[in-house]
Amino acid sequence: MNTQKDNQKFDCVIIGAGAAGLFAAYSAGKRHKRVLVIDHANKIGKKILMSGGGRCNFTNYFIEHDRYLSTNPHFFKSALAQFSQWSLIELICEYGLEHYEKELGQLFCQHKSSDFLDFLKALIQSLDVEVRCLTTVNKIQSDAEFTLDLTTSDKPYQVTSESLIIATGGLSIPTMGATGFGYEVAKQFGHKLLPTRAGLVPFTWNTKEKERLATLSGTALPVRVSIGNQSFAHQLLFTHRGLSGPAILQISNYWNEGQSVAIDLLPDQTLSEYLQTQSSQKALGSILKQLWPNKFVQVWFDTFNLSKQLAQLSNLELSQLDQHVHAWRFKPGGTEGYRTAEVTLGGVSCDEVSSKTLESQFQPKLYFVGEVLDVTGHLGGFNFQWAFSSGFVAGQNC
Ligand SMILES: Cc1cc2nc3c(=O)[nH]c(=O)nc-3n(C[C@H](O)[C@H](O)[C@H](O)COP(=O)(O)OP(=O)(O)OC[C@H]3O[C@@H](n4cnc5c(N)ncnc54)[C@H](O)[C@@H]3O)c2cc1C
Repeated sequence: MNTQKDNQKFDCVIIGAGAAGLFAAYSAGKRHKRVLVIDHANKIGKKILMSGGGRCNFTNYFIEHDRYLSTNPHFFKSALAQFSQWSLIELICEYGLEHYEKELGQLFCQHKSSDFLDFLKALIQSLDVEVRCLTTVNKIQSDAEFTLDLTTSDKPYQVTSESLIIATGGLSIPTMGATGFGYEVAKQFGHKLLPTRAGLVPFTWNTKEKERLATLSGTALPVRVSIGNQSFAHQLLFTHRGLSGPAILQISNYWNEGQSVAIDLLPDQTLSEYLQTQSSQKALGSILKQLWPNKFVQVWFDTFNLSKQLAQLSNLELSQLDQHVHAWRFKPGGTEGYRTAEVTLGGVSCDEVSSKTLESQFQPKLYFVGEVLDVTGHLGGFNFQWAFSSGFVAGQNC
């Protein structure tokens, strides 16, 4: 990895040293391109370091198309095929990165996220790739080549490049360096932007339910959450501020302001059938406590008489119980927003970018990769795989 600012002429400049930008650098560097990667943050790959609960869920065995959201539902297929999860797994195995499958095909680092960043650093180590952090892009001009006005350590200077890759990510977690810079560049070159919103994000309470349900903070349950015909079965976590946990993060990608979420609190069986297996002399409360934590039973079933014996429950009460368990309609007050969202939905429209090369249809040799584009994956390693696949493809074509 070169760190000298000697010759300021590059084959390829990449803005953003996250997952997509670093992978694009590797891909272009492998083709003997002279590459400069710029980031305004003080270090590279900050989101990689904080990802996957500290262990970076870098891909998934089951990278399937229905795991991605985009206004253009075919766009992401080519890049994911050109550099698949299997290509990534081959590379990490060659390098010797220790990893494991946690659940549902999700691959994590065995030890810590920084191991994955070390792997990315090793990939570009021996290539003609220079990385400059704490560098601001002031202006981009394009003629026969790109000219960028940059500032590093208070010193303004220019670099020129044959091609330019925008890998600045989305708006989630501004404290980690997220900006809307990529959207501004897209606009400069005449691209359409699709409205953005926070994805893979917790819901906040609405005023009606807050007081009662916030007391359940810390309680986790397996549930099935649905909006329309999209549904996810996984854990739900009650928090002081609202609902979180993997099931909620997943469904948040499909949620629009004002909508309700259907939540089944007993997804693997029917409560009425379970009650039939119980002694009719048993109190309702003690049966429910076999299924859920005590605190949850007290709060969630507070409108039912828990000391009543099963035999004393009327048909109406039984059907109300069933509804209460299997058909909770939760109307979120909102989401936690970009402050904690893992991803940004929307962004640079895929209709004006080549799916085969990721090159702009308006500006030759300009590429968009990673989260800045209107491609968002489910929770489970799908977003990093998109970042790597798209970065790889742009690096092959720049
Ligand atoms: C807490 C958290 C946990 C996550 N865990 C996972 C996970 O386990 N698995 C998974 O698949 N996905 C995960 N994600 C999502 C994943 O991190 C992103 O989808 C992925 O990082 C996107 O890669 P990117 O390179 O497009 O953007 P980023 O990784 O966001 O990189 C963009 C880079 O551009 C830089 N930049 C921004 N603006 C400018 C500017 N104006 N000038 C210069 N540089 C700029 C930023 O500093 C940053 O380094 C997680 C996200 C978060 C927030």
